[in-house]
Amino acid sequence: MTSLKQVLKNKLTKKELAALVTSYDVVGDIAIIEIPSILKPKEKLVAEAIMQLNKHIRVVCKKVGIHRGIYRRQKLKIITGERRKTTIHRENKVLIKLHLEKVYFSPRLSTERLRIAKQVKPKETVLVMFSGVAPYCLVIAKNASPKVVYGIEINPVAHRFAEENVKLNKLEEKIRLYLGDVRIVVPMLKKKFDRIVMPLPLGGENFLDTALSAIKKGGIIHFYDFKDVTGFEIAKEKVLKACKKARKKCKILRLVKCGQIAPRTYRICIDFKVC
Ligand code: SAM
Repeated sequence: MTSLKQVLKNKLTKKELAALVTSYDVVGDIAIIEIPSILKPKEKLVAEAIMQLNKHIRVVCKKVGIHRGIYRRQKLKIITGERRKTTIHRENKVLIKLHLEKVYFSPRLSTERLRIAKQVKPKETVLVMFSGVAPYCLVIAKNASPKVVYGIEINPVAHRFAEENVKLNKLEEKIRLYLGDVRIVVPMLKKKFDRIVMPLPLGGENFLDTALSAIKKGGIIHFYDFKDVTGFEIAKEKVLKACKKARKKCKILRLVKCGQIAPRTYRICIDFKVC
C-alpha cells in the first residue's frame, strides 16, 4: 500500500518529510490532519495527497487549536475538497451525523463504546451523561438489548444531531434524549439506572455525586478521566472519595486505558459497582 510519505517524497524536502504527521482521523468522508508550522506552506499538497490515497474522502481539514469550552468544540479549517464540515460517520453498526466544529465527536472511541455496550445486560436501564451527538446511546442500543438508554446533553446543536441520529438508526423505541445540564435533568427524571456512563474526562468528578444519587444498588458507573501513568491511583481516589461522601460502598472493577492523548498520558475509564 502506498504511504503518505511515498506520495509526497518528491514534493517535500527531507526536513518537511520528517515533520509530516502521517496519522490522521477520518470522520465519515472528512479527514482531519495536523499540520506542523514548517509544513504550512505545503498544507494543500499534503491534503491532496490524502485525497489521492483515500478515494472516499471528500474534504480535508486541519486542526486549529484544541477542544475548548463546556461544549468541548474544536476549530477546523478546510484545506481542500468540498466546503462542508457536516458528515455521516459509520461505526459499530450505527450511522452518526454531525458537524465537526459545532459538536464534540471522536472516532477513536469506537472500541471503547463497544466495550461498554458489551457489558450491558438485557433489559438494563442505562444513562449516558454528556451524550453529545449520541454515539454511546446509539452503539449501546444497537449492539446490546437495553430496556431504554437515556442521554443528556447541554449543547443544543449536539442534541439536535443526536435526535436526528436516533431517527436515522430507527432507535426511537430505545433511546430518550434530554437537552440540558446533567445536574438539573437527572433529578427531574426521578429514575434509578442499572448503568451510568460518564464520558466527560475533564471535570467529570464534579458529577459523581449526581451519578451516585441516580444509580441502583448493584449498578455500574463508567467514570472517565485523563491521567498520566503516575496518576491512575489519583483517579481511583476521586471515585472512592465521592462514594464515601455519598455514603455508598463501591467496588472498583477495573481501570481501562482507552486512548493515549500525550506521551504517557491516557484517557482512562474506571468501571465501578455501587453496592
Ligand atoms: N459522549 C459524547 C461523545 O463521546 O462523543 C460527547 C463527549 S464530550 C467529551 C462531552 C460532552 O458533554 C459535550 O458534548 C458537552 O457539551 C457536554 N456537557 C458538558 N457539560 C455538561 C453538563 N453539565 N450537562 C450535560 N452535558 C454537558
